[in-house]
Amino acid sequence: MPASSYAVDAFGRRHIGTTPDDHQRMLEVVGHASVDALMAAAVPTSIRMGEVLSSAVPAAATEREALAELRDLAAQNTVRTSMIGLGYFGTVTPAVIQRNVLENPSWYTAYTPYQPEISQGRLEALINFQTMVEDLTGLDIANASMLDEGTAVVEGMLLARRASKSASNRFVVDADALPQTLALLRSRAEAVGIELVEVPLAERFGSGDGDADVSEPVSELGEHFGVFVQYPGASGRVWNPSALIAASKAQGALAVVAADLLALALITSPGELGADVAVGTSQRFGVPMGFGGPHAGYMAVRKGLERQLPGRLVGVSVDASGAPAYRLSLQAREQHIRREKATSNICTAQVLLAVMASMYAVYHGPRGIRYIATEVAGKASLLAGWLEEIGQTVRHDAYFDTLSVVVPGLAKNVVARARELGVHLWQADEATVQVSVDETTTLDDLHAVVRAFGGPEERDLGVGVALDANALPAALRRTSSYLQHPVFNTHHSETQMMRYLKTLADRDYALDRGMIPLGSCTMKLNAATEMQAVTWPAFADLHPFAPEADVVGSLGMIEQLESWLAEVTGYDTVSLQPNAGSQGELAGLLAIRGYHRANGETERDVCLIPSSAHGTNAASAVLAGMRVVVVATDELGNVDLDDLRAKVAEHADRLAALMITYPSTHGVYEHDVVEVTQAVHDAGGQVYVDGANLNALLGFARFGDFGGDVSHLNLHKTFCIPHGGGGPGVGPVAAKAHLAPYLPGHPMAQRADHAGGVTHDGGPVSAAPYGSPSILPISWAYVRMMGADGLRDATAAAVLAANYVAARLREHYPVLYTGENGLVAHECILDLRPLTAATGVTVDDVAKRLVDYGFHAPTMSFPVAGTLMVEPTESEDLAELDRFVDAMIAIKAEADAVGRGEWPAEDNPLHNAPHTAESVVVGEWTHPYTREQAVYPVRSLVRNKYWAPVRRIDQAFGDRNLVCACPPVEAFA
Ligand SMILES: *Cc1c(COP(=O)(O)O)cnc(C)c1O
Repeated sequence: MPASSYAVDAFGRRHIGTTPDDHQRMLEVVGHASVDALMAAAVPTSIRMGEVLSSAVPAAATEREALAELRDLAAQNTVRTSMIGLGYFGTVTPAVIQRNVLENPSWYTAYTPYQPEISQGRLEALINFQTMVEDLTGLDIANASMLDEGTAVVEGMLLARRASKSASNRFVVDADALPQTLALLRSRAEAVGIELVEVPLAERFGSGDGDADVSEPVSELGEHFGVFVQYPGASGRVWNPSALIAASKAQGALAVVAADLLALALITSPGELGADVAVGTSQRFGVPMGFGGPHAGYMAVRKGLERQLPGRLVGVSVDASGAPAYRLSLQAREQHIRREKATSNICTAQVLLAVMASMYAVYHGPRGIRYIATEVAGKASLLAGWLEEIGQTVRHDAYFDTLSVVVPGLAKNVVARARELGVHLWQADEATVQVSVDETTTLDDLHAVVRAFGGPEERDLGVGVALDANALPAALRRTSSYLQHPVFNTHHSETQMMRYLKTLADRDYALDRGMIPLGSCTMKLNAATEMQAVTWPAFADLHPFAPEADVVGSLGMIEQLESWLAEVTGYDTVSLQPNAGSQGELAGLLAIRGYHRANGETERDVCLIPSSAHGTNAASAVLAGMRVVVVATDELGNVDLDDLRAKVAEHADRLAALMITYPSTHGVYEHDVVEVTQAVHDAGGQVYVDGANLNALLGFARFGDFGGDVSHLNLHKTFCIPHGGGGPGVGPVAAKAHLAPYLPGHPMAQRADHAGGVTHDGGPVSAAPYGSPSILPISWAYVRMMGADGLRDATAAAVLAANYVAARLREHYPVLYTGENGLVAHECILDLRPLTAATGVTVDDVAKRLVDYGFHAPTMSFPVAGTLMVEPTESEDLAELDRFVDAMIAIKAEADAVGRGEWPAEDNPLHNAPHTAESVVVGEWTHPYTREQAVYPVRSLVRNKYWAPVRRIDQAFGDRNLVCACPPVEAFA
């Protein structure tokens, strides 16, 4: 290659792991002459795009150029001090957590901990999170994160309806809830036939601030299955809802309380007030506001409701030697199997952010958290005193951090004046300004607020002022303890904290160790340059409801990304609001529902879903108020066209949508897809294409061109947002113009219009208008640095890698499904059932044995039980692909030895995998294979060994036996 053509700074070369020379070698194995020939054979001509992507996606920028452009965008934002509150607060991210978690690939490139043996570090961090939430909320069992506070409240409502014995469909909602929560409740309740009754609860059922007396009988509310209280209220008011909760529960309702975790350090916990469910966000525990997200929401429930918990739950189980070990509850893993019976559609959650929040509690401990809360409350009461001194009226006597100041007719002016002074306040209505104090608020900020309300310019503020939480009612002062476990009382020096984080990270297998070939999950490179802008203050420190003029750079970035995503998918418009793939599905289905209703076709409620679909599809359909009808899959793994036609005919008048994944969840480009979409359209239905597998299509075909009306994409798959150990994610929903009006809008969105000049007027699906904007620079940078050609090259490299792996492994493990040409798309399903039948060796055995060889297992038993689904992605180099293939071949040989009876079925390297260091060192070696065979089956492992910290974790140890809080330290002695 001539030196001049080797552009050292071309990003595509760094992102794609295989070189043109590698491609030639791989093509020989696959049996095609060129990458173009391979793609021509693989992608059906009926869906192939004529030309490459048009100019909407610019040519590739270098890493430096992309960062320079991002800096320009960042410079168009103005970061002022936010005192807006409403669930988003300034917070100090301890630098040791920022550097060692948020900016550390050992944490951010990990996958969801479905393989617990290689996930003990993040599982411990998550059980710390659960324990922190359980302690602060005073409830028994918390999960390991919700997507945000607003959606957590919705999940709380749905949980209450499932668990309540009341037959009522009415849900009583606190009118003093966060405005975004109210908006979410309204649109989500409507879709599933729940009637909301919005009531100013504190005014009607509390006779004074902090008072427990109920001034009106709760029977006035009528029958209801649940009641929702915001605690403290959105207006800042702190009051005691316990009498209301008791009365409401007495008539069969469940009580859901959204509580501020920091306030709970000082005020009585929801559990002590009688709540059944507590929800909220952990953002102010060290996670930057990030213009709205991502942050970890939380949910905790009282005993007896744990089977109803949505999301993922971590518990303490035991490994093969009886040692304690963490794992996800089966219930959490079974969500995919339960489909339309699932408790929720949450799949990707907010693990990385939950880890950060838990570490904030670990670092500060109970005394530190209490100190921070007391300072916040003290600053709020100090400010209230000053405001009253200059003649202002603060509405509530009891508050934690937020003041509602009554300024009839002047609210707008006060907010504008504060902005000039560098502070954002919130205009609640014409006559009310809200001010929220947080950990970062300085006395200068407070002075600016006083000035904005007409106070004197010069003032000697704060000298000798003792901060105290004196605005909290005595009756609600928290007396119970929290964060007493040693983990929250040990790692308080920076050295200890750094080592604790390193210790946990070392227990885990992430992309920084090797390949994670998880089918359907696209574990590709998360490049360092892509990650850079995430922590820039100009993106990280914006409040989601900051005024438009201050967030122009972020909005510009969002608009560009929207237009690029629309272009590459063949749609007209995109919403970046959904903060996971599951939420994108929901948004897309709600758009379909809105469209049919607007056309007067209210009876269209049937959603056809192929039997092979991802579990979230059916769960989302139910949440969108649809009925799921399953379509059969034929013996080739494709949608059974005859069955589809029959189901379409049977439900024609009621057909709302078909949800189809393309390429299929079987990793195949189905040739009939155009016929499939046509049949649905002919019957008046809409086509939802699940776009999680876009990595096999980008630059070669577009959903919008072959019949899709709407799709979600997973930016945490195709577009390089790291999985974070199970979140964050972004699941944009892309649609044709006719669905645009029904895509998610938001009452606080800075701009109504989106790329393509259309507005989105549906109800919100996330708490923040743009979902999780602080991680959008990752996907922006990826597209910008790859350019249209690079995206296409990545697709081809991913498809080549999958076909190479399939071709090399075929004689050892049958590849279950291929397209008409014998090719797979970007992933391949290896059928282990013949092996299991012949040798007794299971999918589990092979997956765990891969750990001994230094790999993360492929996706197990999805979408077909007894199989492994391998997705190598374009980012792995040929040596790593070969290392994986060689490991799989060696494992096959081991299984064959078991089959021949050389090793007993119950005592062989597969059955006993993974092997810990302890298991080969301590005690007498009694197995029929050597210790070397156990842990160094290939020579290269001697220098590069990943040691699993625990042996195989017992799945028979049922959920009922799990302890979902930090276990006693002695357990690990
Ligand atoms: C990953 C995936 C989803 C769900 O995405 P989340 O972000 O985890 O909610 C949906 N469908 C398919 C096919 C997927 O692979």
